[in-house]
Amino acid sequence: MEKFEVLGLSDELLKSIDDMGFETPSEVQEKAIPFLLAEERDLVALAQTGTGKTAAFGFPLIQRVDPSSKMTQGLILSPTRELCLQITNELKNYSKYVDGLNVVAVYGGASINDQAKQIKRGAQIIVATPGRMQDMMRRGFVDISEIGYCVLDEADEMLNMGFYEDITTILADTPEEKSTWLFSATMPKEVARIAKDFMSDPHEITVGSRNVGAETVRHEYYTVGGRDRYLALKRLADANPDIFSVVFCRTKRDTQNVAEKLIEDGYNAAALHGDLSQNQRDLVMKSFRTNQIQMLVATDVAARGIDVDDITHVINYQLPDEMEVYTHRSGRTGRAGKSGVSMIIVTKSELRRIKQLERLLQKPFEPKKIPTGIEICEIQLYHLASKIKNTEISEDIDPYLPAIYDVLDGLEREELIKKMVSVEFSRFFNYYKKSKDLNADTSGTKNSKGNSVRYFINVGERDGYDWKKLKDFLRDQLGLDRDDIFNADTKENFSFFNTEPQHKDMILEFFTDFKHNGRFINVEISTTRPDEGRRRDHNGRDRKRRRRRDGDRRRDEGRKFEGGRRKDRGDFKKKDKKKKNEKSSGFFFDNVYDPSQSKKSNKRKRRK
Ligand code: ADP
Ligand code: MG
Repeated sequence: MEKFEVLGLSDELLKSIDDMGFETPSEVQEKAIPFLLAEERDLVALAQTGTGKTAAFGFPLIQRVDPSSKMTQGLILSPTRELCLQITNELKNYSKYVDGLNVVAVYGGASINDQAKQIKRGAQIIVATPGRMQDMMRRGFVDISEIGYCVLDEADEMLNMGFYEDITTILADTPEEKSTWLFSATMPKEVARIAKDFMSDPHEITVGSRNVGAETVRHEYYTVGGRDRYLALKRLADANPDIFSVVFCRTKRDTQNVAEKLIEDGYNAAALHGDLSQNQRDLVMKSFRTNQIQMLVATDVAARGIDVDDITHVINYQLPDEMEVYTHRSGRTGRAGKSGVSMIIVTKSELRRIKQLERLLQKPFEPKKIPTGIEICEIQLYHLASKIKNTEISEDIDPYLPAIYDVLDGLEREELIKKMVSVEFSRFFNYYKKSKDLNADTSGTKNSKGNSVRYFINVGERDGYDWKKLKDFLRDQLGLDRDDIFNADTKENFSFFNTEPQHKDMILEFFTDFKHNGRFINVEISTTRPDEGRRRDHNGRDRKRRRRRDGDRRRDEGRKFEGGRRKDRGDFKKKDKKKKNEKSSGFFFDNVYDPSQSKKSNKRKRRK
């Protein structure tokens, strides 16, 4: 414990540090604590998640406040309720030998009056989430006009969550001459802006290189077809029987869906997202902390508060939109000196983002193959055998043994082993014996969506759609998953998208007489192969027809479209009986902007 002693900490703190079993200070603690104890200066400290930042500001703050005064002297802002409670608990723990020191948590979702009462009794340190803090300020429940220290913890996450304005409002009520300590895992522009706007000449501490994820985390990526994400997730879970993981999805909806499917498929899974009540979230977190949940499926925002040290895997079911968010995700594993794996399920079109992440984290990401069904069976088999070998025999089983020996009487050792292992193994074997290879072919440029159906839809960029919005729109309307719609390609006035053949009938049916925002939306099957389209265009027949029908705007559109023709439309529906018929209506369908015709045309087709 010698090293903590040289940092200048008080005996009370050293005593609780001893109780907690901390032996040596972490790097950020070693750098921040002596500085904060000695100097009245602002500080920006950048250190990865899990490096002990709470104690880095907590120890000096506790030592600096005067417990004999009841005035609020220190304010810590933190992004979520979970983190707020966690910091409060840590600080209470650190200060248990400091008489008269009160640390109070201020966060939403709990009684504001109770919190006000606690503060009234004297709270030298307040740990708060920005929203509730402002509420308390408006009602005059807190007085931060005399604080000496303001800590912005997990500043990057607070800004990610859009708390810039709130922080501004809160800081406006604090004295000019206080010290501001900013702690963050990463230093995006917004954090730099906070440092510039609210701090004067801050001292900067950087642990490790900026933006680098924890050294203990390995990054792996698995390239699959967009629609195989879920199957891939299951295999990754099955290939890691002791997995204890957070699975990140981009939307609440995906989060809920994936969790539900996992539960249906027999996994110990649960969803964590903003649509759950605080109560539900607390319950989920409790089951996760106590390892009753093996796979916690979460949105980025909801996962902000997760602080569980022994997460073995972070699974990126989808990549986040913002690169910085990936650092937060992967930082959930590999904590407290343990090693962890961050797995990314990607599609081929996202591979360039892996390259960007490698650059951002300055670490290689390992391309890996989704295990085959047989490999998984093998892993499970060995896992089962070693589990049997390592299981402690419970004495409680004794009374049942004579009867069990009777039942198993006459079985040879070999046979007994085979049977025992088969009980569990068969479950996996039966599921996986006919499973396909999920790995996308990343060697060539050929798009593997050979069997899919391509559709034409008469909405485009002019209607405010880009490919992402089109996908969202279709998914919401049709009740499909995000990955069920692919190769969405928006043009000025119309768009294309693909699905698997099994959705075809439902989609055509759905868009018969379908009106959205007062306008008929028409969907047709696109059967034209690029070379055919080009040929027709060359002989000019279709273009003339279009011009007559739709005027100049559409003609320009057509030209634009020729230029952007996609490779991947090459192999559609050659043998489809409908083809001849549909082709006759030309590349652009007769009824594109004509609702009455559209209906007729749909009916005509459907009768075939
Ligand atoms: P951060 O805020 O940097 O993500 P935390 O402050 O939450 O990290 O600390 C992560 C974990 O490490 C916590 O469980 C904490 O109790 C533990 N920890 C902090 N400092 C030390 C230390 N010096 N020695 C051992 N464990 C520590
Ligand atoms: Mg922290």
